[in-house]
Amino acid sequence: MQSAEKELRFKYHGGPLLSHVRLHLIYWGSHWNTKEGKELISGVTEAARKMVDGGYLSQLAQYNIPAGQPFEVRSVTAVLDDGSDPPNPFADSEGKGRSDVRDEIKSLIDRKVLDPHSDPNSDALYMVIMPRGLTCSTADDDGETGAGQHFYFDLNGRNVYYGWVRSGSSERVLERITTTLSEELVEAITDPIPGTGWVASEATEDVEVCDACEGVNARVNGVLVKTYYSNEDRDCVTGKLAALPAKVGGA
Ligand SMILES: [Zn+2]
Repeated sequence: MQSAEKELRFKYHGGPLLSHVRLHLIYWGSHWNTKEGKELISGVTEAARKMVDGGYLSQLAQYNIPAGQPFEVRSVTAVLDDGSDPPNPFADSEGKGRSDVRDEIKSLIDRKVLDPHSDPNSDALYMVIMPRGLTCSTADDDGETGAGQHFYFDLNGRNVYYGWVRSGSSERVLERITTTLSEELVEAITDPIPGTGWVASEATEDVEVCDACEGVNARVNGVLVKTYYSNEDRDCVTGKLAALPAKVGGA
């Protein structure tokens, strides 16, 4: 199966791409307001910054419009909402089906904590990070989609892009979150309305760029991430290391 996956060719299907992103990490639930939760918030938020600053997205430029222009995460913001707890299991159905995640984001927008359309030159991407132990009732029950998902909804005629990441229940929670978060970030920007961006079609389902590299993880700037498929390289890649800023007067 590994070699067959390498034969994949990703094609663009005409939908939107998220070229300039304001990434909001929404930590939902009272668990995040504990000592352990707060440490994890710092760890995950810092890891997200390190992965995008480390050039993780650079080899996605081939998929941008115009091609070759890098996808850019302009800001990474942590948002704590410990005023309510997500239900367990939580739901995230498409369209008119129940989505606790969508309801949470809409509520944060209603309360003016979030403003998805504050900047006409960039798209907000809301990634809800779930506390440990939660499961999703509507995800496919294979491990990959059950770990995270990205999607969108319509708000007053405009799209709001979002996703969620489970923390799992085992050890290595930080790495579990960073690998899933990296996949959902990459796939949300290259295929924000699933199936209309960059996908490789297989008999039964659309494959997004990280799906083609399932199980192939790597470190970027010290952060464990999923690799993504590059048409140019015909391989799973993690971007090229960003040029490090020159040290001024350092040892
Ligand atoms: Zn995926």
